[in-house]
Amino acid sequence: MSAVPRITLNDGNSIPQLGFGVFQIEPKDTAAAVRTALDIGYRHVDTAQMYGNEKEVGEAIRTSGVDRAEVFITSKLNNGFHRPDDARKAFDGTLDALGVDAVDLFLIHWPLPTRYDGDFVSTWRTLVEFKREGRARSVGVSNFQVAHLERLAAETDLVPAVNQIEVHPYLANEQVREYGRKHGIATQAWSPIAQGAVLDDPAVTGIAAQVGRSPAQVVLRWHVQRGDIVFPKSVTQARIEENFAIFDFELDDEQMRRISALDRGEQGRRGPNPDTFDYVPN
Ligand code: NDP
Repeated sequence: MSAVPRITLNDGNSIPQLGFGVFQIEPKDTAAAVRTALDIGYRHVDTAQMYGNEKEVGEAIRTSGVDRAEVFITSKLNNGFHRPDDARKAFDGTLDALGVDAVDLFLIHWPLPTRYDGDFVSTWRTLVEFKREGRARSVGVSNFQVAHLERLAAETDLVPAVNQIEVHPYLANEQVREYGRKHGIATQAWSPIAQGAVLDDPAVTGIAAQVGRSPAQVVLRWHVQRGDIVFPKSVTQARIEENFAIFDFELDDEQMRRISALDRGEQGRRGPNPDTFDYVPN
């Protein structure tokens, strides 16, 4: 099995380019899924307060026999906690639930520009505190559009280490990726296989047949060759294994272009639009 490359972030820390996502994994199933991933060799887990399974992620790592220091753990601030005092309490809750002294990466999950009087800047400053305290080794954002990133750049001193956004062949999200490239913000591509929706596209299945790999492997390989960080989710052992085996083959330029040509722009978006998404849990 080829080793997973690491991406160096703008603060000098590094992150495995491939991880394991746990969105929509029931808490009761989470520890087993994360254990399976760790046994296979994954060393990066992407969770969030919103997913309700931080505790089980922590349990899985503690009981896995893998040293905590070897596992890169990301979590995210839930939408109801953007005010600085709420963010501080919620972040304490994350460390508690995971059972760790520090997370490797902590993100603002959504910018919520129509909530909190449009203020995500004070939330960002609060995450910067967590980094200064050493309780979040890196800090970043998720679902931030170019205008939101420009505002952080204008009003604060710390550039986010990552921006975690929806990216897959049907939504290439090029403008946001391009802003990241120019400003040293690594792109993390969420729903990298569009929750399965791109896997029976004829372009993808055609290339899969050419290279003798599965459609999911081809799409994940497309992401890593573009330089993005991915963490596909699965509760199925064979798929968790399959998604990990993407570092021993390559797509050529023509194959890369054919997948990139599937971009449908905004029509391809499967999740909410970050400019209008305003969900706050009760
Ligand atoms: P993915 O694109 O990773 O797709 C997951 C789905 O695809 C599941 O239904 C899974 O089924 C199936 N699947 C996985 N591997 C394969 C395979 N090899 N072949 C066929 N089907 C497969 O979607 P997610 O939305 O889960 O995104 C991944 C991660 O991104 C999340 O877990 C989360 O960590 C993050 N994320 C972040 C968001 C944000 O706002 N920041 C929003 C959404 C996701 P099964 O499990 O049944 O095997």
